[in-house]
Amino acid sequence: MALDQSLKWLAVTIHLESPLLITARQVGFVWESETFIPGGVLRGAVAEVAARHGQDLKLLFDRPNAPRFGHAYAGLEPAVGILPHTARTCKRYRGFRRDDQDEDRHGVWDTLLLQVFGQVKAEARCPTCDRGTVSYGGEPYVSVGSSGAWRYASPRVIMRRIGRTAVARERAAVADRLLYVLEVIGEQMERDELDAYGRPLEAATQFHSCAWADSSDGWPWDDWLREVTHLGGVRSRGLGWVRIEVEEGSARTPTDGEVVRAGMQLAQLTEDRRVADLGSPPGEMNVLDRILAFNRAAYAVKCLGKEWRNYWYFTLNMQSDAILGDARGPRHCPQPADLEIPASVEWVWSGAGYSQAGGWSAAWGLPKRVTPSVTAGSTFVYRVPHGDEDLAQQVLKRCVALEQEGIGQRREEGLGWVQICTPFHLETEVQK
Ligand SMILES: [Zn+2]
Repeated sequence: MALDQSLKWLAVTIHLESPLLITARQVGFVWESETFIPGGVLRGAVAEVAARHGQDLKLLFDRPNAPRFGHAYAGLEPAVGILPHTARTCKRYRGFRRDDQDEDRHGVWDTLLLQVFGQVKAEARCPTCDRGTVSYGGEPYVSVGSSGAWRYASPRVIMRRIGRTAVARERAAVADRLLYVLEVIGEQMERDELDAYGRPLEAATQFHSCAWADSSDGWPWDDWLREVTHLGGVRSRGLGWVRIEVEEGSARTPTDGEVVRAGMQLAQLTEDRRVADLGSPPGEMNVLDRILAFNRAAYAVKCLGKEWRNYWYFTLNMQSDAILGDARGPRHCPQPADLEIPASVEWVWSGAGYSQAGGWSAAWGLPKRVTPSVTAGSTFVYRVPHGDEDLAQQVLKRCVALEQEGIGQRREEGLGWVQICTPFHLETEVQK
């Protein structure tokens, strides 16, 4: 099995030119918005552009190698990933420390390595004030700063509520007392960083998404994305104007040679005493770098049992909600067979959240059918026995492919995106 080099990675940046409403639900007379732009909304907008160019949408989207659009999250940079549910923060002073003097926040750190490899069962306490902690998972995180000196942040959109009156079409007049409220994403966002005087920084709202497209299909996906000028609902009222930039990403798919080399490095782990060190900024690590760094960190956990050294490990980190399972029913933990990974690989541990995936159908103006789902931030750990080079290569190639393909149902809408070994698992202590 060779890696599919025909997929191209498109980095998508969305600038807001007006407030944006991405309908999540309608509660009474209030229309509530999502805080991110679902992949399905981006896909719908691209489909509209393609239709304007006279394209047959069935031909474009109803096929195995149709492009896949991820959710777009706010931030000045593309997110490194989604914080795993094992990320914890102080119950009282929540969030990432924004500089080394930040007294309003006690920081965020990850507990997976200790829970799984250190067998620590007790709930984590805040290292600064010894209070209890809460999960900080499910939010996108970015790395801020340069190589060797970055910190993490979790940028957020700022929501606004605007009142509107309904117009009765037949009379072209304001309908009697019919007022409704739109909750919209504002044109400014919180960067989750401080300026030199310790004041929170804001910036013009921008979102980052990515798409995988088949470079051999000949369609100008990047041009069509650039032609999108509107997203979301209530366009006639001046909402949802956007400007989109697209860049073709550099080699995201490792070569077969790199996979062989990574397999050999994993085989030598038992003698390797190096502690994990992120050489390059976390957003620039490819999937093989992340797997190697994760395993070095796991092997460096104090009192790692002898039997644990017979395996190497990888995590599956959900980057969006996922609908697992099939006609036989929902599934709460992807088994190696679901991931198309050989049965000698075993599931080890789950830290998952469960919910109902719904969404809003723009076509029908109604909520979509809800289905049981595992939430973004859910984390699953698997182990692979040492000593079989073919197996190692096979699993590594599947890991590369899983990040391109995703898992579960409704992937075309941005559900089921995964990351392997998200770098935040290495942050076992609060950054000072
Ligand atoms: Zn605290």
